[in-house]
Amino acid sequence: MLTLEIDCPVCGEVLELTEADRAELGVGDVIVCDSCNAEMEVTRNGEGEDFELELLGVLTTCPNCSEEFEVTEDMLDAAPVVEGADGVTVSLVDCPHCRAKIELEFEVVEAEED
Ligand SMILES: [Zn+2]
Ligand SMILES: [Zn+2]
Repeated sequence: MLTLEIDCPVCGEVLELTEADRAELGVGDVIVCDSCNAEMEVTRNGEGEDFELELLGVLTTCPNCSEEFEVTEDMLDAAPVVEGADGVTVSLVDCPHCRAKIELEFEVVEAEED
């Protein structure tokens, strides 16, 4: 069975879509990344590799005010990225509710590290 592998545009996690998965997906449907909760809308779902997604946003919960908000690709593009001492890369975005600076940590998946 053909399985399509898609790299999550946010965290790099590989999302596997089987033919059966794709049969259930239509244009406009939303896929959520298991690892970072990024939402991606299906913009094409044809034969074989003819498949495209558009990143909608990442739903996150503000640790300061506990409100959920969506982090979009535009916000991420504009957000400063800082690397911590432990090598963890975080993006700083503003919570739209309380304006707190939220550190978003995305698991950057390194290919086989052993
Ligand atoms: Zn992801
Ligand atoms: Zn907040």
